[in-house]
Amino acid sequence: MNDLRFFPDEPPYVGKSFFRPNGSIKFDPILTDQRYSFVVNLLSNSYWKERIRTVADFGCSDLNFFRVLRSLRFLRTAYLVDIDEEMLKNNRMRAQPINSDYINRRDSPFHVEILRGSVDFFSEKMINLDAFVAIELIEHLFPPELERLPYNVFHLIKPQIAIFTTPNSDFNILFATLPFNNFRHDDHKFEWSREQFQDWAENIVQRFPDYVVSLQGIGPGPEGAEEYGGCSQAAIFVRRPECVETQITPWEVQEYNAGARMQTYDVILECDFPHDERTREEKISDCAMYHINQIEHRSRMDRDAEQYDYAPFRLEIPLEKILGCVTQDHATTQQELEAILRGRPMQVENGNVVIVSDDEEMGDEEDYENY
Ligand code: SAM
Repeated sequence: MNDLRFFPDEPPYVGKSFFRPNGSIKFDPILTDQRYSFVVNLLSNSYWKERIRTVADFGCSDLNFFRVLRSLRFLRTAYLVDIDEEMLKNNRMRAQPINSDYINRRDSPFHVEILRGSVDFFSEKMINLDAFVAIELIEHLFPPELERLPYNVFHLIKPQIAIFTTPNSDFNILFATLPFNNFRHDDHKFEWSREQFQDWAENIVQRFPDYVVSLQGIGPGPEGAEEYGGCSQAAIFVRRPECVETQITPWEVQEYNAGARMQTYDVILECDFPHDERTREEKISDCAMYHINQIEHRSRMDRDAEQYDYAPFRLEIPLEKILGCVTQDHATTQQELEAILRGRPMQVENGNVVIVSDDEEMGDEEDYENY
């Protein structure tokens, strides 16, 4: 299935792995980072970045994935959800803005909530969720939770995209030892082969035909071990765009939630990231003025190096040149840029910004002040 909705625009950096002399496998970059890149590269492809504004990371654990998720500047809201309250409280600082977020502000508001809740309980906060992410979560679920999850995700939440990753047990043969009763982690309730995961995914799209699914491997094995697939495996569920939105009824939610193991989503932390509150026109204007000032400054320096008599200064800067600089950060046209600069007000003639000043008026004292 060569569908843009399932793949990043550019083939992402594909990780490698090799056997160490002691027989263990080293992943480069580490497998966790390969999973995170997989999810982030997919969410930020040209198809999804226009559509995704709200994301939930279920089983967010110590908020490690948020390190990467926060770099997606098109997001407006992120919910970080886990059942482990202590883990969330101990790591809540990781969801807060840091100094660089105040300096290099986002263009739009970004609201973050850490929630203690279970993936098999529907919360109203999940209404209008665009992207559902669960990285290495499902293998931690008890059978009743795993059974309830598809209804919550695909019938109640109904995100546009849902990404699940889980260990691929076919790969386990490559591990010299598996410490936890032949599982990779002592809390794993199961580890599925590629076939078992595919069965689970296909069963879901049969039950919830609004969705299609694609399965992919993450973390390729060492050379010669390709037949075992990736160390992790991902199922990407995408809601068909043509599907009609059906409203879920409150009693349906009430009845569903009544069977859940956990009964609430508690807010552990809420925060808002700083963002640049200037209008789009103000940003274009400021950016253009920055480049105009730079060009003017350089031009004055060149003139001063060549001549000492301060004749009136006149500089014409082609709008095209300013446009080239501005469009690196803001989408605009020459026409719009001209209108914005005229409103500043700047003098614009025949496609050039014109700067004129009578430097002779500058007194000598002012010059000497700079020495
Ligand atoms: N997603 C994390 C990452 O990629 O860094 C790692 C996930 S960790 C292996 C599994 C997490 O799932 C744990 O933090 C656990 O508390 C959480 N978890 C287990 N059952 C859950 C449930 N029913 N709802 C939400 N989270 C759950």
